[in-house]
Amino acid sequence: MNEENQVYFIDSDQLPPSALERKHRLEQDPSFRADHMKYMDGMQVIESDIKDKVLKAMGEYDYNSYTAADVERALSHETCSIEDFKAFLSPAAAPYLEQMARKAEEITKNHFGNTVYIFTPLYIANYCQNYCIYCGFNCYNNIRRKKLNFQEIEHEMQVIAKTGMEEILLLTGESRKYSDVEYIGEAVKIARKYFKNIGIEIYPVNVDEYKYLHECGVDYVTVFQETYNADKYETLHLLGHKRVWPYRFDSQERALMGGMRGAGFSALLGLMISGRMHWRLRFMFII
Ligand code: SF4
Repeated sequence: MNEENQVYFIDSDQLPPSALERKHRLEQDPSFRADHMKYMDGMQVIESDIKDKVLKAMGEYDYNSYTAADVERALSHETCSIEDFKAFLSPAAAPYLEQMARKAEEITKNHFGNTVYIFTPLYIANYCQNYCIYCGFNCYNNIRRKKLNFQEIEHEMQVIAKTGMEEILLLTGESRKYSDVEYIGEAVKIARKYFKNIGIEIYPVNVDEYKYLHECGVDYVTVFQETYNADKYETLHLLGHKRVWPYRFDSQERALMGGMRGAGFSALLGLMISGRMHWRLRFMFII
């Protein structure tokens, strides 16, 4: 059993004995879980070498090999290279936090000026079929579940639009059964009436489904990988399609292949150390 994950395990008193038994087995017996590197039926495999490149770069990254001189050199560059970012992430960069913050501010202002980007997240459903042990929405947790109907969705959007917000992010828990692609597409069509920019944060889908959602009006897609360490990922995502690390990894590429203008991804900071507060570090590329 992975001792450091113990802090996350919570048993609902509403679970029937058979479900509780399965939950415990998933938590305690890695051989009981599906292979997290193997695509499940229906998951599209695309031709891409990005995954391999990222894994290779992660494997080769030796953060202890960077020195203060590397960090100072990186700070002096007008445009930062991958090597510069590696130096910034190394322990040698710890005394340079203030300089790095100034550098980040300077680059941000050069590109975007004094812009603040605000969007409203709207959960249209919170059903989820995954067991991510750190998340309260997980399928074993006893919370009130809800799926908004189209009248309720439109009402929420009208209220949000009245505040002057022009961008919306539609979210669901990750359940194809309760929030299928057509349901999400219809919600997006309603959103198009009220908002200039529409994002979705849903379960990863195949290229043709991203294409359909883009045709409904979606501009960008966000998928959180949570951790790029596949071994750690395996101990945190015990059940459901989210367990499949490579399919999730390819999501942004599939979204762009489906015509999306933007793709966001994120890491959940703190997962490598149990009991720590989690922060999501969000990146977004809009093209
Ligand atoms: S898939 Fe998302 S909503 Fe569902 S349990 Fe995992 S983190 Fe929570």
